[in-house]
Amino acid sequence: MSCDSCRIREPRVFQPHTRRKLCKECFLSDVRARVAVEVTKLGLDRTKKILVAVSGGKDSFVLLDTLRRLIDRESLVPFTIEEGIRGYNREDQTEQLISLTGIYNIIKSSFKQSVGYTLDDMMTAANHSNMNVSACTFCGGFRRKLINDAARRVGADAVVTGHNLDDEVQTIVINLLRGDVERLIRFGNSPLRLSDRFVPRLKPLRRIYEWETTMYAELSGYKFQDVECPYMVTKPTLRAKVRELLYQLESTSPGSLLKILDVFDGLSEKMRSSSGQLPSLPLCRICGEPTSLNREICKNCELLLKSGLLDMLSKSIY
Ligand SMILES: [Zn+2]
Ligand SMILES: [Zn+2]
Repeated sequence: MSCDSCRIREPRVFQPHTRRKLCKECFLSDVRARVAVEVTKLGLDRTKKILVAVSGGKDSFVLLDTLRRLIDRESLVPFTIEEGIRGYNREDQTEQLISLTGIYNIIKSSFKQSVGYTLDDMMTAANHSNMNVSACTFCGGFRRKLINDAARRVGADAVVTGHNLDDEVQTIVINLLRGDVERLIRFGNSPLRLSDRFVPRLKPLRRIYEWETTMYAELSGYKFQDVECPYMVTKPTLRAKVRELLYQLESTSPGSLLKILDVFDGLSEKMRSSSGQLPSLPLCRICGEPTSLNREICKNCELLLKSGLLDMLSKSIY
């Protein structure tokens, strides 16, 4: 039995959505070729400076490793954030990621340094104030802010993140279930630029299955522990339920996730062209960053205010 692609080497990987058995080399080049298609489509090969958001997880390894083969390495600036979660530190993995890919110009930031509080501090304060908000709400919002700040600081023309196909389809289903049309339109293949203060965020791995990023990292000798964030374990989110549901769908009907993404991308393009010019976003009265329409204070500042971590009068702005 030989690889369905090269017909020479012994197969190591079965790819359900193409029904092919692939050897290690052919599997790795298949993933790289599919990332290359996205890179060209997104224009990343013509982008001068790209901030690569890395966490040290397998997806961020695959992101940096595939990009460095397609894009001039001088253009890539890895960026990592320490959220400040007790018992959850991925610094060793980030170091390994850097040494394996050979992209050493990494820049680092932390919640503590940029916002003044670790994520643990934020959650303690939120619990004291009886806020019923998950850690992911705090974490997601501030991560986005720090990534955007860093991108502007280094003069990056684009930010790339390691979201894979599973992540993307989960987000689509979650937005559908919540009826969040505005977010659904914003999500799509090409990002909508709603403010010139937002550096465009692109996702070159959005057509790569999660099992494929795991396999790619393993076959490349990347040693990672997929330690679940402690906040995820204590409070299972809607995302975890949707993930389970999609996993079942994919295993009975391989290729479903890719189909959902394609259909959705088509829909999103149509919705965008019929929705006309979207209005520019207002700026937050506290931090001056863009916020959603009809809001005076951005979500991040609101979270800090409600948890008692931000005194509006003192304007001690992070
Ligand atoms: Zn092969
Ligand atoms: Zn704000």
